[in-house]
Amino acid sequence: MITRTSIALQSENAVPSEDASEGATLTPRQRSQDWQAQLSDAVRDPYALCRHLGLDPAWLPGAEQGHDLFPVRVPHAYLSRIRHGDPDDPLLRQVLPLERESDSVAGFVGDPLEEAEHRPRPGLIHKYRNRVLLIASPACAINCRYCFRRHFPYAENSPSRAQWESTLDYLRQDTSINEAIFSGGDPLASPDRRLAWLAERLADIPHLKRLRLHTRLPVVIPDRVDGALLDWLSATRLQTVMVVHINHPNEIDTHVAEAMARLRGAGVTLLNQSVLLRGINDDVDTLAQLSERLFEVGILPYYLHVLDPVEGAAHFDVPDSEAVTLVETLRTHLAGFLMPRLVREIPGEASKTPLA
Ligand code: SF4
Repeated sequence: MITRTSIALQSENAVPSEDASEGATLTPRQRSQDWQAQLSDAVRDPYALCRHLGLDPAWLPGAEQGHDLFPVRVPHAYLSRIRHGDPDDPLLRQVLPLERESDSVAGFVGDPLEEAEHRPRPGLIHKYRNRVLLIASPACAINCRYCFRRHFPYAENSPSRAQWESTLDYLRQDTSINEAIFSGGDPLASPDRRLAWLAERLADIPHLKRLRLHTRLPVVIPDRVDGALLDWLSATRLQTVMVVHINHPNEIDTHVAEAMARLRGAGVTLLNQSVLLRGINDDVDTLAQLSERLFEVGILPYYLHVLDPVEGAAHFDVPDSEAVTLVETLRTHLAGFLMPRLVREIPGEASKTPLA
């Protein structure tokens, strides 16, 4: 029976001044639907991260050490999906810095994909024949500990308006290019007016057919999928494809599902790429649940990448032979259209290399 007291409790819980599961006070900005406010309120220091999640203080020294190499950044919308007090939570493992990030491991380097060789202009990466990657933002909403660009020289690759014009000229002159990819950082960390300006310029290039966005922001802060974003995505003549980045089914809550529905409503094709990560998703059940959950919310599993050997992330590595065995078993659990392609990116190759 609903009593006056239970109604009062329910309404207190609906917009809590304290997050009951985390015991942490939420500010009005953290409760805001304004994605930029949420971005600036992200947790940015290891102490706050450990305290917020009720982690044993023993994790703090390692977290501080890792943070000095690659800073902590976790928005509250993502933090709310992490289990309180559980150091093994698969979402926490993606964002918690560890002492092991300081280890020097043979073969793990600063630029594992040798992208420095393929930058004809600041902010432009041209690795593959008919597509180019534009660093549309140097920033990310979240700092993923395994990121292959954790040492990327963003300061040299944040083009001014004049440098973008030069990049656009490069695209105009190469008629073999039919697809532009907004990357980063996270391209959606840029304001919509800047992205809309770039998308309009790209749409004026007749040989371009598609605009692809590689982004984690709609997963990390689902409110990023707002009217301003949907407006310019729906307005462009280019076919729009969004490749989101989800590694574990727990990352997909109802807010993420709703954000994906808004994107599909704007005519965006949704694909997912994951990274195979030790201790996070390196088992058949998790990967099968991930594919099922992706499809439920309208996203097709696309790639399962083995880890790029970036300095600081060796503890996430799963050997290729183990990855292949895992994926062969996964194939017996899933319909073919739910199977992501297991790939490795090898510097200098003309495309990603399938492993299974
Ligand atoms: S570029 Fe992508 S994987 Fe790397 S830190 Fe940013 S969101 Fe994470």
